[in-house]
Amino acid sequence: MSDSALVLFSGGQDSTTCLAWALNRYTRVETVGFDYGQRHRVELDCRRDVLSSIRVSFPDWGAKLGEDHMVDLAALGAISQTSLTRETAFEYERGGLPNSFVPGRNLLFFTFAAAIAYRRGLKRLVGGMCETDYSGYPDCRDDTMKALQVALSLGLDKRLVIETPLMWIDKAATWEMTKQLGGDRLVDLVVERTHSCYAGDRAKRHDWGYGCGACPACELRATGWQKWRESS
Ligand code: ZN
Repeated sequence: MSDSALVLFSGGQDSTTCLAWALNRYTRVETVGFDYGQRHRVELDCRRDVLSSIRVSFPDWGAKLGEDHMVDLAALGAISQTSLTRETAFEYERGGLPNSFVPGRNLLFFTFAAAIAYRRGLKRLVGGMCETDYSGYPDCRDDTMKALQVALSLGLDKRLVIETPLMWIDKAATWEMTKQLGGDRLVDLVVERTHSCYAGDRAKRHDWGYGCGACPACELRATGWQKWRESS
């Protein structure tokens, strides 16, 4: 089915925007999430909350929104914890990668997503990877995505297309895309329901949503919001 997609959906701002983007384009959309022992379970709670809010607030999209697949990747959590070694810390400083970096995480995510897409007859994989804001993550880069698309299509002997609608835009443009896709109702949903903060803070409410306001994810989200508000 060429008009169907599987969205890699974490419950954050970017993947929620990608989900709306896919629901706007395709007739059948399913979601996949990964539980790898995230430090903050709030992410997984927000995920469910966003999905149910979309069904309530956007019935047309809700009608196209199919199954949500949760994949238990406890092994990934175990590997990333044991690799927090001196060598890894040195690599971090030398390579300038954020310490939230889990090596190869997206490679695994897409491989599992491709297996689900194959089984469910979904032709496209949609993810919120972005080079503009996150060039530090090598497994989010456009070249990585293109190589993965080829590897997965060959390995499954079935053409899979990886789509990354946010790859070349910044956070301000992501907010604008949200507005274009679903108006103020979708912007409000993203502000209220999605979660980006690395510290797992849901106590402090800002114009742009909940978060500690100080971690890199909050800074990015807040800066993008301000830039978008000033330009719109
Ligand atoms: Zn934060």
